[in-house]
Amino acid sequence: MSDEQELGITESKQYNTGEWYAEVVQKAGLANYGPEGMSGFIITRPRAYALWERVQGFLDAKFKDTGVQNAYFPVFIPESYLEREKDIVEGFDPEVAWVTHAGQQELEERLAVRPTSESIIAPYMAQWVRSHRDLPLRVNQWSSVVRWEATETKPFFRTKEFLWQEGHTAHATDDDAWTETMLRLDQYESVYEDLLAMPVLRGAKPEHDKFPGAKTTTTVEALMPDGKSVQSATSHHLGTSFAEAFDITYTDEGEDAQVAHTTSWGLSWRALGALIMTHSDDQGLVLPHTVAPEQVVVVPIWQADTQEKVLDYAEEITEELESAGVRVHLDDRDERNPGFKFNEWELKGVPVRFEIGPNEVDDDVVTVVHRPDGESREVDRENIAETVQEQFDEVYAKLYAAAEENLEENVREADSRADILGTIGQHGGYVKAPWCGDEACETEIKDQIAAEIVMVPLDDEDAEIHGGETCAICDDDAEETAYFAKSY
Ligand code: AMP
Repeated sequence: MSDEQELGITESKQYNTGEWYAEVVQKAGLANYGPEGMSGFIITRPRAYALWERVQGFLDAKFKDTGVQNAYFPVFIPESYLEREKDIVEGFDPEVAWVTHAGQQELEERLAVRPTSESIIAPYMAQWVRSHRDLPLRVNQWSSVVRWEATETKPFFRTKEFLWQEGHTAHATDDDAWTETMLRLDQYESVYEDLLAMPVLRGAKPEHDKFPGAKTTTTVEALMPDGKSVQSATSHHLGTSFAEAFDITYTDEGEDAQVAHTTSWGLSWRALGALIMTHSDDQGLVLPHTVAPEQVVVVPIWQADTQEKVLDYAEEITEELESAGVRVHLDDRDERNPGFKFNEWELKGVPVRFEIGPNEVDDDVVTVVHRPDGESREVDRENIAETVQEQFDEVYAKLYAAAEENLEENVREADSRADILGTIGQHGGYVKAPWCGDEACETEIKDQIAAEIVMVPLDDEDAEIHGGETCAICDDDAEETAYFAKSY
């Protein structure tokens, strides 16, 4: 096997999605698996961390525009704190890692490695909130959390330690808390649609699958090309459960004591998993320019007698793009031929390639190639910094359109158990069905085909579709429209 073949992707996205994904993650230089004995942990390499920083930058700016301040809380939570909200203890119990010793000394109280931080943030919010004038209170932290996941792990999608942000807010009224919950869901939707070129569906988790202690858990779900749904970020209306457990109270305008209403919301590096899985192909990683570490790679193509003029021209163009703020890399390595360079940058997901040979120099043009579909064209050298933005937008639109087509083609309806099982079995994707609201009906589907209810439409969206119908599984009256899907 030649060098070039070994570097490239050997698995097929369509037929062997899991192996293909693992290969892309490693060969595109995004992550390594953790040490032996630490399965489920990953090493995030600079190229993946750069992607995370773009997600962070985008979302952090939105948070700050909407009244959120960043803060940081300890990585450990005393057991007695965790126990104050009973649903959290029960919900996370099987996944919590505990610190029991410091050196040889056993600790008086076990410390949980945070699986989520409500239990250490809420008690401090309680100290900071006194009157209605202190509300709303909004803090966010960028951190990692640890959940000892029992289900199979997969880089970025499901890891035992993951990077995320968790926002925590307190409000005077239930309505205010709901408005906050939806605002954050909108912002998560925007991360996917405006930064990662992916459409998502918005909904609520069924009662039995809510975040522990939450009144309502809302979610954005993305459909992967293999027909599985990804819970892509969640925003929780926590009602008064945490405020009651941790005494987050305030005096209202009439000097009466009131319990606050809280929310929490999180987006993790699972967003990177969804990004990689959605757009990439059998040549490797595919990225939109919005997050790509290099947006353009310039590959000069020369013979001995044209080297100087080709390189001069390529350097000039590179500098012009750089000064216009474009992330551009000139690959002028002498020891590699152009074909090798094309493959390498395709594997790494650079969205736009410039090919520059003697003909381009003579004609005052640049050959531009789009990563997702290899479409190539000549553009004038003049105004190249503006032209390149148009190319970026075109590539973004292609990526979004492909993901949108996948989503639109894969939402189907079913009205019987056999129909749900058959449709998901045959096509994957989402199946909408009338549902009575009982978990037992979901379990029947889960046991047979490993699909679950990933969401129900939010009250304010198409809630009444199945009004008056009967549950597809048990024939009792239907209460909701359930979206069944296999999920990551
Ligand atoms: P939660 O606090 O459980 O609502 O989690 C917030 C978000 O983090 C979820 O919606 C997932 O997208 C993501 N997430 C949850 N568990 C993991 C994990 N083990 N690895 C990566 N991301 C995760």
